[in-house]
Amino acid sequence: SAAELDARLRAEGEARGGELNCFTWRSGEADAPSARGLPPPLDAAPLWGIGGVVKANICVRDRITDCGSRLLARWRPPYDATAVARLREAGAQILGATVMDEFGMGSSTEHSAVGPARNPHDTTRVPGGSSGGAAAAVAAGLAFFALGSDTGGSVRQPAHCCGVAGLRPTYGRVSRYGLVAYASSLDQIGPLAPTVADCAAVYGVVAGRDDYDATSLDASVGAPLAAAARPAAGLTIGVPRDLLALADADTVADFDASLDALRGEGVAVVDIALPDSEVMLAAYYVIAAAEASANLARFDGVAFGERGRGDDYAAMTAGTRAAGFGREVKRRILLGTFVLSAGYRDAHYERARRARQLVTGVYRTALAACDAIATPTAPTAAFPLGEKVDDPLLMYRSDVFTVGPSLAGLPALTVPTGRDRDGLPLSLQLTGPALGEETLFTLGAAVERARGFRAEGAA
Ligand code: GLN
Repeated sequence: SAAELDARLRAEGEARGGELNCFTWRSGEADAPSARGLPPPLDAAPLWGIGGVVKANICVRDRITDCGSRLLARWRPPYDATAVARLREAGAQILGATVMDEFGMGSSTEHSAVGPARNPHDTTRVPGGSSGGAAAAVAAGLAFFALGSDTGGSVRQPAHCCGVAGLRPTYGRVSRYGLVAYASSLDQIGPLAPTVADCAAVYGVVAGRDDYDATSLDASVGAPLAAAARPAAGLTIGVPRDLLALADADTVADFDASLDALRGEGVAVVDIALPDSEVMLAAYYVIAAAEASANLARFDGVAFGERGRGDDYAAMTAGTRAAGFGREVKRRILLGTFVLSAGYRDAHYERARRARQLVTGVYRTALAACDAIATPTAPTAAFPLGEKVDDPLLMYRSDVFTVGPSLAGLPALTVPTGRDRDGLPLSLQLTGPALGEETLFTLGAAVERARGFRAEGAA
């Protein structure tokens, strides 16, 4: 029953939430109807009584939404994000907010003002990032689903590290209203959950047009749960073999096992090319930093969050930002300001925009020959805490497989598949055409069935 589930979450949350450092806050919704053991109402909504968590950059009314930043440590938005409002309407309970890299900038959740979250499979390892707390909470059984945000991989890469499913929807599929902006042309909210079907269920609730987000798409969401139950036979997967040189040996072996499993499900596997993929990381990090530098200008100590000392506006703002932002955020703001500044803009920002158009075309061509593209989600399994935190370029390379779909605005799904020699989760990333989420659910569920990976055992 929902009441038993609620009690289990509470008990486990007390035992594991602290060790994993995955929660920004946890609610005591003990008086929620499901927790009191009441039966579902006659018109029970699809997620009635199901407890989930949201990344701490997704607004929850009157609750701390700190974005992993000291600058917003006490900031409580006066409204729910559209995605949160839709979850509540669907009957879900918001059990808490989860620890993240500050404003979404990172791949390990170490760039967080409230300390790193830890991987439930091995607490000396990172849970991935930037939605690391969300992935850790789901993998440890502390929430049935999470909403994360994905700019260049922040849903998929932590899902990979923690062995759960995670979807980056098509750009515009889920409203960004109430998602604190990092890089607006790339940001998307997406679900993480133990299985592909669970992801599909949450996606089905949060996706769809929203008048509060002018970039949200007015297209039918379809029947995601039915798609996850459909056979995959007859579909075609494209594999860009050249890219596998970027992954370690265990990752490549696991990837090949997934392709074999898909063939066993009646899926055709063909070779495709993703030319010019070496420009993806560079283009992503220029564009994301440029947009971040503009978006984060609003944190001047006046309208949101903490206020530093200073005798006039300029001094107060400088003080607020100097003390409020962490090192990685400052690095991105400096980079972004540089690539947008007069004299450098053409050489960097405009060039990155042209590269983005090139990448978009490359994906369009590749997806004309297949229903979805398969790659690993990341080059390695979860890495040790501290390994990359002082080497930004090394950290950025964790995103080599995830930034391409982001630049092209395409949906991409991470499905847990196996484990490496240390027992850490590995996964497959499936990238589809715009609005191709249903195909991804069909293929993802087939991979899951055939590989038989289960996140249980993490706790
Ligand atoms: N690691 C990437 C970055 O730091 C992606 C993060 C994200 O998707 N929010 O920008």
